[in-house]
Amino acid sequence: MNERETLKINSLGHLEIGGADAVDLAKEFGTPLYVFDETHIRNMMRVYKRTIENEYDGNGQVLYASKAFSCKAVYAIANDENIGVDVVSGGEFYTALKAGFPANRIYMHGNNKLFRELEYAVENGIGNIVVDSYSEADILNGIAAQHGVKQNVLIRTNPGIEAHTHAFVQTARTDSKFGFSINDGAAEEITRHVLTKKNLVLKGYHCHIGSQIFEKQSFVLAAEKVMDFIAKMKKSLGFEAAELNIGGGFGVWYTDEDPKLKLCDYADYLKALIDAVKSKAKEHGLNKPYLLIEPGRSIVGEAGVTLYTVGAIKDIPGIKKYVAVDGGMFDNPRYALYQSKYTVILADRANEKCTERVTVAGKCCESGDLIAVDVPLPEAKIGNILAVLTTGAYNYSMASNYNRNFIPAAVLVKDGKAEYIVKPQTYEDIVRNDVIPGRLKK
Ligand SMILES: *Cc1c(COP(=O)(O)O)cnc(C)c1O
Repeated sequence: MNERETLKINSLGHLEIGGADAVDLAKEFGTPLYVFDETHIRNMMRVYKRTIENEYDGNGQVLYASKAFSCKAVYAIANDENIGVDVVSGGEFYTALKAGFPANRIYMHGNNKLFRELEYAVENGIGNIVVDSYSEADILNGIAAQHGVKQNVLIRTNPGIEAHTHAFVQTARTDSKFGFSINDGAAEEITRHVLTKKNLVLKGYHCHIGSQIFEKQSFVLAAEKVMDFIAKMKKSLGFEAAELNIGGGFGVWYTDEDPKLKLCDYADYLKALIDAVKSKAKEHGLNKPYLLIEPGRSIVGEAGVTLYTVGAIKDIPGIKKYVAVDGGMFDNPRYALYQSKYTVILADRANEKCTERVTVAGKCCESGDLIAVDVPLPEAKIGNILAVLTTGAYNYSMASNYNRNFIPAAVLVKDGKAEYIVKPQTYEDIVRNDVIPGRLKK
């Protein structure tokens, strides 16, 4: 466990998050339950914001990448912290607006934004749209003209750096559905194209090299590559980018294979990146661009814990012991999708020694519906509260009603007090949009 003041084991030997005993939360709200530690979310937003203030004269902004966890309350927190957000769909944009988030601090991404999403964004005064195709530039220009606005845009570039958790590779041409390659001239071509669009104002460039990255050098390299490209565009086209958005991707602790980063470590990552931007600006005689970063996972990931109740236990001697919980791939599909690893503890017996290795299974009708494979636990009993750590990012946001299970509720905890931020679903919610055509009615 990557312990902190708001995530620890209390004197009762129970998991405590945000000052609340996880066993009490399970009793009060039921399981499965997503629990979010407000203090940690705010601390993460602040550490990035302060680093931009301290190391870059405040000439930039933190955008919370809301696809990691999107609901009204999280936009309300981001607004309260005076940061921006990015969205990747009309639905996320709608949620942000409904939470009262100012549209001018919202950036929109997507490799295939729909006409109706672009129209909806422009109509509501979105701050910036990150263009990712020729057709999008044309369509967006048309929509902006129709609404009599000049829309700020960035171009999504691909710097040819592919980062993975502990390593990165540099490639001349990267196979990706995202971005325009800097290395093969594609990014220069789209720049020329966008600069001809009368209702688009090209503010600069964006890149995002991957996720769950711990290698500082990969961020530095990406920043250097895009800064070199900015210098090149100034020379060849006379266009000097005013903004540089370097994306997200900072890693978090899931298991002891990952480093346990503290707030100051995240400041160090960002400082390394800022130093690279500064020195490249100096080298090329460029103005320091307005700097944007888009952390998602690192803001909400470790802030979240999922609580389950242990149900059926199946021991297959010499093969495996399955401990089944009342959730599964419908609230956390990441093992099924990516074989992601998690740390699992018994929240009500958190001080006990782990005596066996088990596989935590969900309740879906799918053999691949697992949460964690071969993980150490004390001998679990039916009724124990099982906690999966670091589930704040890409869990609720990827949840589904598979098998017509309920998407669990989410609570926000601060100073020991928990409140719903996503209410529990009901059977009525499950059939809300179902229709039986008249001819099938008996
Ligand atoms: C997913 C994504 C992010 C956030 O990535 P994290 O790894 O969650 O920090 C930021 N920017 C873009 C464009 C993304 O697609």
